[in-house]
Amino acid sequence: MRGAVLAVGDELLLGDIVNTNAAWLGEQLAAVGVQVVHSAAVGDDVPRLVTALRRALEDADVVVLSGGLGPTVDDLTRDAVALVADAPLQRSAALEEHLRGLFAAYGLPMPEANLRQADVPRGARALDNPAGTAPGLRVEVGDQLVFALPGPPHELRAVAAPVLAELAELSGARLFTRTVHCGMTGESQVAELVEAAVSVPEGVALAYLAGGGVVRVRFTGEQDAVLRRLADAAAAALGDAVWGRDADTLAGVVHGLLGRAGATVAVAESLTGGLLGAALTELPGSSAGFRGGVVAYATELKESLAGVPATVLAEHGAVSPETAAALACGVRERLGATYGVALTGVAGPDEQEGRPVGTVHAAVAGPDGLLEVRSGRLPGDRERVRLLAVARGLDLLRRVLQAE
Ligand code: ATP
Repeated sequence: MRGAVLAVGDELLLGDIVNTNAAWLGEQLAAVGVQVVHSAAVGDDVPRLVTALRRALEDADVVVLSGGLGPTVDDLTRDAVALVADAPLQRSAALEEHLRGLFAAYGLPMPEANLRQADVPRGARALDNPAGTAPGLRVEVGDQLVFALPGPPHELRAVAAPVLAELAELSGARLFTRTVHCGMTGESQVAELVEAAVSVPEGVALAYLAGGGVVRVRFTGEQDAVLRRLADAAAAALGDAVWGRDADTLAGVVHGLLGRAGATVAVAESLTGGLLGAALTELPGSSAGFRGGVVAYATELKESLAGVPATVLAEHGAVSPETAAALACGVRERLGATYGVALTGVAGPDEQEGRPVGTVHAAVAGPDGLLEVRSGRLPGDRERVRLLAVARGLDLLRRVLQAE
């Protein structure tokens, strides 16, 4: 079954909002066995909407639109759908009553313009919107299907749920995915190792998804047992770069390992300003494994709060492997944790102490002293360097815990 996605709204074309609906719909449609062959953004203009919808119907069995179902004059999706389906808009008495009921429940007078949302192309079905006032539409155009769904993402998701269920049934496909997550390695290196170890059979899609310091290897197909074997082979080839599978998160994996070892961790961070501690407290129940952290941003606080010897700072500088090591050892001791993790580096935009932007040193200390230091240059702007540094700190701790 072939699908197309049309995201409607001038603000998408002007860059006022990012078209996250297209990404979400693409992913959801693929997961129910609809192959998306066409995706576009269209402005609030009836002739252009009609052209775009006709074009989408040329190569898709089902077209999903998002946006343009609101009550204002620039909400034109239902008019365009009515024209393409050759089914004039008719006011639905049941929808009108529903809308009046919603406004009465809010205690608000209903502007007459809102009644546009009770208009439905002849023969079409309105789709219940439990999250807002704009109902969706299900319209048959010959033997093809058009769904018009609201633009606000939380409304889109609410109205899309039964649509996706119907499409899953129509496509007859039940797709599974198996994912392997790796850290501290590049996408092309991951691809090289996986492709040397695994030959992907027909009917299985292999994708690499990189972001946030993590590379995900994803297998999608109809036979879960086959996918599992492929994921196992990929994980074996990737060795200790692999930190998790499927729904795992790096922080969750770290907490699992700490729990199994009956251990705790404390963090000392500089360039990440608390983001590492935030990542380690993301999950409920984090207090079992996370003792706390020190944000030692100013150089003198690295000494007074985290116990970095003044000589280390004087000799090597705040951004150095030696300082990262001393931070990890110091915070472990001062906060009474089994392990200490430290991050120091240059987030940018300017270099620091002659060190270039992206320089990051991560260190892990344990009861017997320093266990691991990793130094490197992370790519990107300030925000990305800080995000990647957090992933690096967590992954270094994960590697240490797995090796213990
Ligand atoms: P409403 O009843 O709110 O008017 P609607 O179906 O008419 O709903 P739009 O007017 O197109 O939807 O969009 C409303 C809001 O939804 C936008 O201002 C934006 O915040 C969000 N939105 C719309 N389209 C998208 C999209 N493609 N991706 C992400 N957000 C979107």
